[in-house]
Amino acid sequence: MEVLRQAMVAMGIEDSRERIDIFSSYRDLVLEWNEKVNLTAIRDPEEFEVKHFVDSLLASSYPGFQKAEKVIDIGTGAGFPGLPLAICFPEKQFVLVDSLNKRIRILNEIIQNLGIGNAVGIHGRAEDLAAQELYREKFDVCLSRAVADLSVLAEYCLPFVRVSGYFGAYKSEDVEDELLGSKKALKTLGGRFHSSTKMSLEGVHMNHQILWVEKIAHTPAKYPRKAGIPSKEPIK
Ligand code: SAM
Repeated sequence: MEVLRQAMVAMGIEDSRERIDIFSSYRDLVLEWNEKVNLTAIRDPEEFEVKHFVDSLLASSYPGFQKAEKVIDIGTGAGFPGLPLAICFPEKQFVLVDSLNKRIRILNEIIQNLGIGNAVGIHGRAEDLAAQELYREKFDVCLSRAVADLSVLAEYCLPFVRVSGYFGAYKSEDVEDELLGSKKALKTLGGRFHSSTKMSLEGVHMNHQILWVEKIAHTPAKYPRKAGIPSKEPIK
C-alpha cells in the first residue's frame, strides 16, 4: 500500500496505520468477491491501488468537495470513487448507488465488514432515485466514474445536486469533444462547467481528471426522463 500511502500524504490526507489497513482489507475483499462476481477487470494488487484507490481520491483537493457534507456516487460498482473517499472523510455522508442489486449487496457487506459508518449502498437506477423527494437536490456533491458520456451523466447526476453544489465526472484526458457535446445538456439541467482537477502526483502515471460542473439553477421537474431514455436519446 506504499503508492496509496504516498499519494495520501501528497494529497494532505491522514495516512494512519488503521486507515491503510482498511484499504488493504477493502482490496482483498473486492478481489475475493471478484472470483465469483464481476466487479473489476483490475486484478493486479498494485494496479488496483492506483487505478481504484488513488484515482478515487482525486476529488479530495477540490474546494466544493472539501465543503460538502452529503455526497452521492452514481454507478458506484464496487464502491468507486465513493468508498475510498468515505474511508478518508469520515465526517461526510456517502450514498453509493448502483442499478445492479448484486453489486450493491456485495458492497454493503464490504462496508459492514470494514466497519465504515458513513457510507451506504442503495440499489436503484439514477433516473428513478433522482425523481424521489428523499434524494432530489439533496446532495452537495454528486460524483460518477466510468458510467456514461457527459451529456447522459449530467441527466443522471445533476438532479441529485442542490443549487450551488457540484457534479464531478471522472474522465480521461481527451474531453474536449465530450464537453462541447454536453453544453446543451448542462444548460438544460441547471449546470455550468466550472473547472477540472487533474492527476499530478509524482510516480502516478494516469491521465485522469475530474470535470466539475456547478449547479446554478434548479433542474426542471421533467428531468431525469424515464429510466433508459437519457442514454437512448441524450440531450444534444
Ligand atoms: N464507478 C465504478 C468504477 O469506476 O469502478 C463502476 C463503473 S461500471 C463500468 C458502471 C456501473 O454503473 C455499473 O456497475 C452499472 O451497473 C452502473 N450503472 C449504469 N447505469 C446506471 C444507472 N442509470 N443508474 C445507476 N447505476 C448505473
